[in-house]
Amino acid sequence: MNKSDSERILGMLSHFDYQQTENPQEANLLLINTCSIRQLSADKAFSTLGRWGKYKKLNPEIKIGICGCVAQIEKENIFKRNKNVDLVFGTRNIYELPDLIKKIESGEKICAIKDNAIKENTDFCIIRDKSFNAWVPIIEGCNNFCTYCIVPYTRGRERSRDFNNIINEVKTCVNQGFKEITLLGQNVDSYGKDLNDKNITLANLLREIAKIEGDFRVRFVTSYPTDITDDLIKAVGESDKICKYFHIPMQSGNDEILKAMNRRYNRRQYGEIVKKIRETFKDNCVTITSDFIAGFPGETNEQFYDTLSAIEEFKLDYSNTAAYSPRENTIAGKWIDKFIDEKIKKERLKILNDKNKEAVINSNKKCLGKILKVLVEGFKQNEENGKIILNSRAENNKIVHFEGDKNLVGSFVDVKINSYSTWCLFGELMN
Ligand code: SF4
Repeated sequence: MNKSDSERILGMLSHFDYQQTENPQEANLLLINTCSIRQLSADKAFSTLGRWGKYKKLNPEIKIGICGCVAQIEKENIFKRNKNVDLVFGTRNIYELPDLIKKIESGEKICAIKDNAIKENTDFCIIRDKSFNAWVPIIEGCNNFCTYCIVPYTRGRERSRDFNNIINEVKTCVNQGFKEITLLGQNVDSYGKDLNDKNITLANLLREIAKIEGDFRVRFVTSYPTDITDDLIKAVGESDKICKYFHIPMQSGNDEILKAMNRRYNRRQYGEIVKKIRETFKDNCVTITSDFIAGFPGETNEQFYDTLSAIEEFKLDYSNTAAYSPRENTIAGKWIDKFIDEKIKKERLKILNDKNKEAVINSNKKCLGKILKVLVEGFKQNEENGKIILNSRAENNKIVHFEGDKNLVGSFVDVKINSYSTWCLFGELMN
């Protein structure tokens, strides 16, 4: 989501003749878009501001700004922590940026933090990274209030984007040559719930996107387990353009911990959703990935082992893992007496990572002999024998390497999988 916000910010700045530079000392405006999901990212943001202050001492004309989740939470406090900052704006003020820029250019210091989002402005272009992947947000914010998560406080309640604006943005991406469109949202399956039109759902959005002509595919992240509807699963199966890929964070395999996290499902319900998806896409071509937290406050060793057994039981193809990081302003962040010792958290994270690795290898094994449609994203030339090895991503999100012509970069091709390592598959070109 932050990446997508940055692309929109770059687009707006380009209307003011700002151009990107790799060298911060050459810039007239230094802007950092921040994430506060972990304390480390917030700390990094402040140390970057400290570094930029030195450039401002050399050139007082430089304007310094901070936006994103850290800005949303810290508000005016940022001016106290760093006197060189000229602009602070929150996650819901992005489309106000043109006005804010004019104000700081005339010498004002501005802190713009709103609780209600500024209406989307489609007059500005979006400057995307040069790649084959375009990230398109469809819903922002979250209503779930998991006890460990800061998102509802930084991004606010769920707000779906206009259906037609999304379709137009995807069409533009396809016309610009992007091959993989990822629909983004903190809780992407909630898309449309706030729009008072029962036909506006993620399933119908995918159906409409699949009708767009062109050589591309679409995926969506992140799903909340109990918000995945039968109609969504059906829609995914209706078009080859929609990746058979579900990212469904489980967070813990233990019901008591899930309850303490305020997740609205239990282990059995999670398992039923996974089963339903796997039964719909019978030939094992579907990929289900997850997220897990090790060392949530109060988590016992037995409860932690439930997480390991869940990865195994539900045959999860891959999981993002993290040790619990207390965030100020969250409910669990106040349960100091239940915090797990750092050493134990680290040990649990290591065990969790080993289990994840085992699951990935088992998942890779299932791909052997299969023909996967991949998007070729780049290549490397072997220094010894001069052979070109293409790197690509399959519909199931796995990285696939194979020998081929570098002119295939940017194309979809079929590859037969012959072998694997932990983090990638190896195959041969079929067409
Ligand atoms: S559903 Fe996701 S974004 Fe929303 S509060 Fe829970 S963890 Fe945070």
